[in-house]
Amino acid sequence: AALREGYERFDPRAYLQNNYLPPRADFSSEEFVVPWKLRCLAETFASGEIHGRTLIDVGSGPTIYQLLSACDHFEEIVATDYLAVNREELGRWARGEPGTFDWSPFIQHVCKIEGRGEPWQEKQRRLRARLRRILPIDVHRPDPLGAPLRPPADAVLSAFCLEAVSPDRAAFARALAHVGSLLRPGGHALLLGALGESFYLAGAAR
Ligand code: SAH
Repeated sequence: AALREGYERFDPRAYLQNNYLPPRADFSSEEFVVPWKLRCLAETFASGEIHGRTLIDVGSGPTIYQLLSACDHFEEIVATDYLAVNREELGRWARGEPGTFDWSPFIQHVCKIEGRGEPWQEKQRRLRARLRRILPIDVHRPDPLGAPLRPPADAVLSAFCLEAVSPDRAAFARALAHVGSLLRPGGHALLLGALGESFYLAGAAR
């Protein structure tokens, strides 16, 4: 209940500002978390082992950086979040509306580390075209989307969500099992997250 209440004050703009603009968004060294995350994802998808029709991203928040390498390997990307404010922010970006967060430094960095010489605008266009569904989700429910995903996902990705929304390890394990129900047998689950953090800030939400 305390976690849910905290998320009611979550401010997407403040979250983006805190985590995805300088000084945190520093691409100059792999010591920083942003280039580390992008490198993890680029290397994971560069293996060529993880591909299919649908990838579902759990707890997308207002961010798309986690989909930049993934989107080359799936026909459809499904983004999800618990909060309508985050889903709306993502929808505005996907439709290319003016005034949305500028992800171009992230897209340029990913194109650079993927090393295919792809123009960043091309990757942005592809992700927007493939990001066709942005759905509500609650990982604490056995049926997180309220209905089964059909067909089930070939891959589930979740970045900085399950551990951030679970009060303890048992709740984390249950949430992981709930999210696993969205995946086809033999599919891939990709988790990216933080250890040893007891809180983070998103405006008034702590
Ligand atoms: N994936 C993004 C956002 C992580 S922040 C990133 O990498 O930056 C954690 C996200 O979990 C927030 O967007 C929040 O709205 C979402 N969330 C909160 N409670 C949730 C729940 N019960 N089920 C799913 N997502 C939840």
